[in-house]
Amino acid sequence: MDKRKTTEQAFIRNDQYNFIARQVSHIINAHATVNHKDTLDGVKLHAFSKVEEILPDLTETQLRLLEDILELEDEKEAEAFLVKLREYVIPFRRVSKKTVEKLFPKAKKLQLPDLDKLDFQKISYIGWFDTRAQKQHLIVEYQGKLKGISGVFDNSGTQGICTLCNRLEEVGLFVTRVRSGKEMYVNRGNYICKDSQTCNEKLTNLGRVEVFLDHLFS
Ligand SMILES: [Zn+2]
Repeated sequence: MDKRKTTEQAFIRNDQYNFIARQVSHIINAHATVNHKDTLDGVKLHAFSKVEEILPDLTETQLRLLEDILELEDEKEAEAFLVKLREYVIPFRRVSKKTVEKLFPKAKKLQLPDLDKLDFQKISYIGWFDTRAQKQHLIVEYQGKLKGISGVFDNSGTQGICTLCNRLEEVGLFVTRVRSGKEMYVNRGNYICKDSQTCNEKLTNLGRVEVFLDHLFS
């Protein structure tokens, strides 16, 4: 049975889901370390208010769903809550092999991502390493449109802070050539996660991705 909600019912983005999951994990950690009920209630209220901050325009039903956060007592309940919440995640736009090829018109013999393996509900962008070209390719949604970005990528992997998810991960320098003025091009380099799947799971603020894209496209 497909438990995914219809487009109308889905109201949380992948990064927002990750943000909520992080708040839930704070609550569960507090349960394991704090015995005082008032303190625990405080932790829950704080977590809930942070969720409300990132989702300011909730309907009554959506609010009720999220209010379950305030009732979470243990890991099992947290897990069940997160499984249920996952059904409300807006999936990334469905991308076919053909779309990918269209998004990278200049790439010669483009190595495609494994689209069948992708869970579109768990991603904010698509990223994969092209071993032939030694490039990292990204598919993002920017200003309502799908865009393809290719960058020379050092795949050897070093520990660093990722520009997209802002976490300490195995990263590589992603260098793209962007237009700067009329006939001018400059190289822009950013450290991003080597493993896009991990990055997508850690990403809690799509705003960072947008800033990254603004720098590339403006
Ligand atoms: Zn990352």
